[in-house]
Amino acid sequence: MAHHKVKPFTPAPRQKCGGKNRYATKQEAELVAEQQMLLFASQGLKLYVYHCAFCGGWHLTSHRDPLGIW
Ligand SMILES: [Zn+2]
Repeated sequence: MAHHKVKPFTPAPRQKCGGKNRYATKQEAELVAEQQMLLFASQGLKLYVYHCAFCGGWHLTSHRDPLGIW
């Protein structure tokens, strides 16, 4: 009788970084940002995509640029 214990592969849950959603690619983050901005357009929501040096992923930030450079 064999007693091999095989652990099934389970994909890791979506990781978070600092409580923010993490996206694997810039394209994915930009897509979500566009959808969110459309949903909350009446509230003037602006989202920016930035690369995270900590986790290597992409996050969204909604901070407003007071100088309007962007
Ligand atoms: Zn991160």
